[in-house]
Amino acid sequence: MNDTLIKILYMISCIFFIRGIKLLGKTDTARKGNAYSAVGMLIACVTVLIQKDVMSAFSTDAATWGGNPLLSNGYCWIIVAVLIGTIIGAIWSKKVQMTGMPELVALFNGFGGLSSLLVALTQYIAAAKGDYFSAVSLGLTIAIGAVAFTGSLVAWGKLSGKMTFKGWVIPAKNAVNGVLCVLGLASIVAYSFFTAENPFGFAEIEKCGVIACTAIFLLLGFTMVIPIGGGDMPVIISFLNALSGLAAAFAGFAINNTVLVVSGCLVGASGLILTLIMCKAMNRTFGSLLFKSFGGQKKKGAAGPAKEPKAMSVEDAYMILEAAKNVVFVPGYGMAVAQAQHAVKELCDKLEENGAEVNFAIHPVAGRMPGHMNVLLAEANVPYEQLKTADEMNPQMSNVDVAIVIGANDVVNPDAINDESSPLYGMPIVNAHEARTVFVLKRGKGTGFSGVENPLFTNDNTVMIYGDAKATVSALVSEFNE
Ligand code: NDP
Repeated sequence: MNDTLIKILYMISCIFFIRGIKLLGKTDTARKGNAYSAVGMLIACVTVLIQKDVMSAFSTDAATWGGNPLLSNGYCWIIVAVLIGTIIGAIWSKKVQMTGMPELVALFNGFGGLSSLLVALTQYIAAAKGDYFSAVSLGLTIAIGAVAFTGSLVAWGKLSGKMTFKGWVIPAKNAVNGVLCVLGLASIVAYSFFTAENPFGFAEIEKCGVIACTAIFLLLGFTMVIPIGGGDMPVIISFLNALSGLAAAFAGFAINNTVLVVSGCLVGASGLILTLIMCKAMNRTFGSLLFKSFGGQKKKGAAGPAKEPKAMSVEDAYMILEAAKNVVFVPGYGMAVAQAQHAVKELCDKLEENGAEVNFAIHPVAGRMPGHMNVLLAEANVPYEQLKTADEMNPQMSNVDVAIVIGANDVVNPDAINDESSPLYGMPIVNAHEARTVFVLKRGKGTGFSGVENPLFTNDNTVMIYGDAKATVSALVSEFNE
């Protein structure tokens, strides 16, 4: 196909990507944004497939396949790959629960990193290292792709609960990560600058460089993410997302593909911006995310709260709610698990009919993905103006009659402001404990994602209403109906 036409098609797909990302920024245009990005991706894929030099790698080598015209046709291989991918994707998307989305996204990030890594290795095997610039780009693609792959696998394991890595401690983790980084970068230098043709004549060093670089950075992904816990997990997931984009961008430089550079930069830049926003929201600096505060010692329940939490029945809770004039909902991961958002909206309407002012205090990392609570509550038609940030609600919290904590735990843990030994220390929280009365809706005594105890539950002004969040909220709505 004509080179100019290919460039024009790439440009059109880039425009679709950029427009798609812009539309994804707002809840009401997000679906359209998704569709735009998908069309951009389709145009990019079709353009790559019909680009002559992509196909010729398969079709000219008929002898390799015993002269079989079907097997030597590149399109056949691609159609089979697309079919396998489509079937897996379709089954998976039907099966996945909303609460399972974050781990799926983590896995997708990992596969993104793996594809860039494979592209780079394939390019190397095809003996097309190119000039120094391409060689360094290829090395960086391997490095970043490998870190994104194993790091995201660990993140997936932690989020899905399939691998908790509990008790895994990496002694002097910063030093270990630092040494791995230096060794990895040295191997990229070896790979890029030592060739048979150069004055040193160390051709073997080139091969070792690639193997060492791949192995070292795969290991670095593990050692970097394994110790992370508490409030740092969401930030590192967004950082891994940025890395998978950067890996794709470098792969684009290495194989000279414009659309890969542009789309990789878009993912990398938006991921980095999100990382910085999340760092700010979590009271972390980017430097401390990278070098300092990965994790922290988990405070075990053994020391535990001295007091037992007080439980209350739905009927008694209704009496208090009926008299409340100012109510704040603090949703968390448990609301997503229970799919209680529609029942919550009903309760919100009942309280408003009863003359109460109702707001929602949304913590930036409540749930298991950025914006998780906003998406759920928007789905239940809770007006956007009622969704307040923790910063907006906290100064008013002492005037709130009842704070209803629905399946939230870490994001309302006062240890984050009071206890320096807590892994959550420094993370901003919703100050639900400052409300006159706090209702905590959860099933039992389970801890949150960070695994630490929450002293809020034993405060004098807190009462627990045990049970599935949806069942409890629906029971409260029924009380208002009677
Ligand atoms: P948590 O994970 O801290 O707590 C959720 C609570 O919900 C649990 O204590 C559980 O208690 C309760 N729960 C579970 N199922 C139900 C149910 N059906 N009905 C009622 N309650 C239920 O949630 P938060 O939202 O407070 O905090 C989010 C945590 O996740 C933070 O630590 C954050 O760092 C982390 N994280 C966030 C990400 C993000 O991007 N938002 C990504 C990755 C991690 P019980 O079992 O007793 O019912």
